Amino acid sequence: MQNWKKSSLVTVIVIVVTLIIAVQLTDSSISVPSSSIDYSPGEPVSQIDLVQNDSKPKNIIIFIADGMGFSHLSLALLTQQEEGQPSVWQEFDIKGWHDARSVYGPLTDSEASATAMATGTSTQFGHIGMDPDQNVLQNIMELAAGQNYNTGIVTDSYVWDGTPAAFSAHIRNEDDARTILNQIADSQIDILIGELEDLGENDIPEKEESLEILKKRFTLLDKTLKLPEDISTHPVAAIYEEDEIQDLNSSPNLTQLTELALYYLSTSQDPFVLLVESEEMDAASHDNDSKRVVKGLQSIQETLSTVLEYSKDQGETLVVFSADHETGGLSAVADYDSYPDMQIRWSTKEHTAAVVPIFAHGPGAGNFARIHRNWEIGIILKALLIAPDSVASHQK
Ligand SMILES: [Zn+2]
Repeated sequence: MQNWKKSSLVTVIVIVVTLIIAVQLTDSSISVPSSSIDYSPGEPVSQIDLVQNDSKPKNIIIFIADGMGFSHLSLALLTQQEEGQPSVWQEFDIKGWHDARSVYGPLTDSEASATAMATGTSTQFGHIGMDPDQNVLQNIMELAAGQNYNTGIVTDSYVWDGTPAAFSAHIRNEDDARTILNQIADSQIDILIGELEDLGENDIPEKEESLEILKKRFTLLDKTLKLPEDISTHPVAAIYEEDEIQDLNSSPNLTQLTELALYYLSTSQDPFVLLVESEEMDAASHDNDSKRVVKGLQSIQETLSTVLEYSKDQGETLVVFSADHETGGLSAVADYDSYPDMQIRWSTKEHTAAVVPIFAHGPGAGNFARIHRNWEIGIILKALLIAPDSVASHQK
C-alpha cells in the first residue's frame, strides 16, 4: 500500500474510534441546562390562579414519603397484588409527577426539596426554610397559624430532620440540631411527633437537653399517649428514640401516631394543616435494603388509608401525597426463568434525578394535576390557604 493511502487509513480509523468513544461517553453522561432558570423568586401566591371548578379545603394533610420514586411505588403494587390487598393508590383523584429540584438543577437533598414544597421557593442543598441568599422564607405552617389554623407534624424520623424542619425552622446549617430544636419550640406548631437521634454526637444536644428545649412550648406526652384534659390550650409532643418508629410492628407505629394527631387536631373547630412524613424509603434506599423498602411501603399504605378515610368522612380535607426526591435508582427487574419472581436492582446509594409521584384527593386536589416542579406544590398549598372562603362553593 502506498504511504499516503496508509496514513489516510490510519486517520479514518482514528476518527471512527474517536466517534465510538464520544458516542459511548454521551450515552452514559448527559449535561443538563443551568438551573438558574428554575429559581422561583417567590412570586406572590395571591396571583396564582386556582382551578376554578374545584373547592377550597378546610383542612390540608401533606404526606411526604422521603426518597420515594415511581419504582418504589411499583414495588408496592407488585407486593400488594401478591397479597391481594385492595389498593390505596386507586383512592386518589389526581395522580401525577413532579420534578424535584434544588437551585443546582434536577438533583436535590431533603432540605432543599422540602423547603420548596413548604415555602414555594427553590433553594440550595442543606438550606432549611431559607433561600440561597439566606432570606427567611415563610412556610405553610406559619401562613396557616396566622390564619387561625392549627398545625401538626408527625414523622417516623427525628423531629429536626430536613423534611419536618423545613415546615418549622429557618437555618442554612442542617446539622445545627440545637438551633432547629429551639426554632421548633418557638414555632406555632400545635402537635409534634417524632424521634431524636445521634444524641450527644457532633454537638447534637443530649436527650435531656433536647426535651428541655421542646418543653418550652410542648407538653410532652408519656408512653400511654394520653392527651391532657384541656387539649385546646396545650401544644403537645410525643418524642421517641432513634428508630423506635419504623414499620407497622413498631409500637407505636406511624399509622397510630397519625391517628393521634388527627384526633388531637379534630378536637378544635378550627381548620388544620398536618405534615406526615415517612423517612423509610430514603433510609432503606441509601442502604439498598429491599426488605426494609417493602416494610416501609406497608407503613406508608396503612397510614395513607387512615388519612384518606379521614378525608372521606370529613369531606373537607385535602390529602396531598408526594416525595422530595428518589433515592437508590430502584428497579424491579423481570427474571423470565423464575417468573413471576422479580429481581430488585439498585443503581446507586445516593439520590437520583428521577421525577417523583404527586397524588391528591379531596377539595382542591385538581390544582395538583398541573404541577411540574417541587416549589409549585408550596405555591399552590399557600394559595389554597389564603383563597377566599367563597371558593368553597360545593363542599360535601
Ligand atoms: Zn436521602
